[in-house]
Amino acid sequence: MTSHLSQTKPTTEQASSGRVSWQQELKEAIRSAAELCQFLHIDPAAICAEEVDFPVLVPRAFARRIERGNPTDPLLKQVLATASERDDVDGFVTDPIGEEQAQLAPGILRKYSSRALMITTGGCAVHCRYCFRRHFPYSESPSGLEQWQPSLDAIRADEQIEEVLLSGGDPLVLPDQRLAQLLIALADIPHLKHVRIHTRTPVVIPSRITDSLVDLLKSSRLKVWFVIHANHANELDGEVFASLSRLQNVGIPVLNQAVLLKGVNDDEDTLFELCKRLMDVQILPYYLHQLDSVAGASHFHVPVEEGRALIAQIRKRLPGYAVPRYVQEIAGEQSKTVLA
Ligand code: SF4
Repeated sequence: MTSHLSQTKPTTEQASSGRVSWQQELKEAIRSAAELCQFLHIDPAAICAEEVDFPVLVPRAFARRIERGNPTDPLLKQVLATASERDDVDGFVTDPIGEEQAQLAPGILRKYSSRALMITTGGCAVHCRYCFRRHFPYSESPSGLEQWQPSLDAIRADEQIEEVLLSGGDPLVLPDQRLAQLLIALADIPHLKHVRIHTRTPVVIPSRITDSLVDLLKSSRLKVWFVIHANHANELDGEVFASLSRLQNVGIPVLNQAVLLKGVNDDEDTLFELCKRLMDVQILPYYLHQLDSVAGASHFHVPVEEGRALIAQIRKRLPGYAVPRYVQEIAGEQSKTVLA
């Protein structure tokens, strides 16, 4: 695997506002387990392991939401490399959902009939230790208009595709200028109707939702949907919600997907709080994913029966629309498998 590190170069986009730009926040992110432990006043000898092929990357805005001195904090567990990542466990593999077989062209996956997924970049704003793409060959994926052209040609050639999912990595580590080029090119494909942006960046760097990004998205002829990724209510503070409300205010629906993770959100109250907090700001708790069996993440596994029981419990406490669909991706299947 190549490094999953951000490919974004900081620019001076927000310099005139006097605020630290999102690019600067990304540049100043914590980039090693030792630095993260130091920042949080945690004894590195107790829990940190040297990350081999998937470096630690944690923006400080996210790190500040982690409780200092608490080695079991549920946000910390998501981002800190530990010795368990080296466990070689049967069934945990480098490509757990068969994405390499689903490639239509380099950088585009066609897993479902009316949708295509573009790998827009290999960069992310945070490195989640359970990521199912932590071994994805990002070096072969495009990240600029010229390199996206084969994907755009493949989408244009297939009139069944109505929706494009922008994924990665994380599309929002791309500068607005490059996103604008991509959106214009997509809007020029007549049969496309929707573009769905899958991103964790607004959760970890809320300042990413800039004026220019909002203007860009609202001016597209395509219907834009946002799917964010948060696994625990503590990830969602007022700054995150203020940022996302700027999208909602221009009519962009925001949904959340979470992953069921041992020691992070595998109990009834934690899942309930996550869904409730999302619901209170009109973000739909869309999916709860069963962990994909990716090598290095076996310590996050929760058995499906436990997941089903958790969904049954929160269903008694939430309105139906606020209960996420518990799903699993199975290689080669025509759609996600609904578990509950
Ligand atoms: S889960 Fe998303 S944000 Fe996290 S490392 Fe994977 S692709 Fe990046």
